Amino acid sequence: MRESSVVVYVLEVRFNYNGKEDALYPVVLKNKHQMILVDCGYAGFMPLIEEAAQKQDLSLQELTGVFITHHDIDHFGGLAELKNRYPVLAVYSPVIEAPYISGKEKSVRLTQAESLFESLPEDPKPGALYFQEMLKNVQSVEVDAVFSEAETFMDGVAIINTPGHMSGHVSLYVPESQTLIAADALVIEHDEFEIANPAFTLDLEDAVESLKKLKRFEIKRMVCYHGGVMEEEIEAKLARLISRYSRPSFV
Ligand SMILES: [Zn+2]
Repeated sequence: MRESSVVVYVLEVRFNYNGKEDALYPVVLKNKHQMILVDCGYAGFMPLIEEAAQKQDLSLQELTGVFITHHDIDHFGGLAELKNRYPVLAVYSPVIEAPYISGKEKSVRLTQAESLFESLPEDPKPGALYFQEMLKNVQSVEVDAVFSEAETFMDGVAIINTPGHMSGHVSLYVPESQTLIAADALVIEHDEFEIANPAFTLDLEDAVESLKKLKRFEIKRMVCYHGGVMEEEIEAKLARLISRYSRPSFV
């Protein structure tokens, strides 16, 4: 029998973006020897994350590492600052995502944004250009260790490949508490699950397949980076989302 003894803390990081209230939900995984932050917000978010951690009697000073689920800037934009402040932190990522986090490959989100730009109406173009600038200015960080699906993390946390939103995207499953850290495999909107920005999902078909894969896990607590924690009717809500995207008109 395996005993993972990994405790999951969900941080609520509130912020204002373009005059709108928003929140991100990074996670801290803690066991006897390690304390790992899963995803770390935009550049400049370190004080907000520290504050959210302190609300749960945690401090970023205790972190031993950071795990990045994929290279969107709201997940790793703040990584360089964190690493500069706490150089001992080990940086972990899925194997496919590592070259983008370390800057060896061009961000696929930037490639996507550039290729969509000309087809945009005039109105959103300045915002789209600003987004491209943010993507170009992100500070890359060397990845210390990569993980693939066959491996476990922190001696018990399962890595689940959940491509779609991005090809190297992973979710994490903590068997002990049956907690699924979905990252951006799905989001919570109006108390239901939804696919994150379906229009910008790099491969929607893969994203739906990833949801079907998640459905095979016993999940008591679903943590979504956008939307927070869901503990009720997870199976039914997941099934509803899958069926919404499986209508014939959609295939
Ligand atoms: Zn994302």
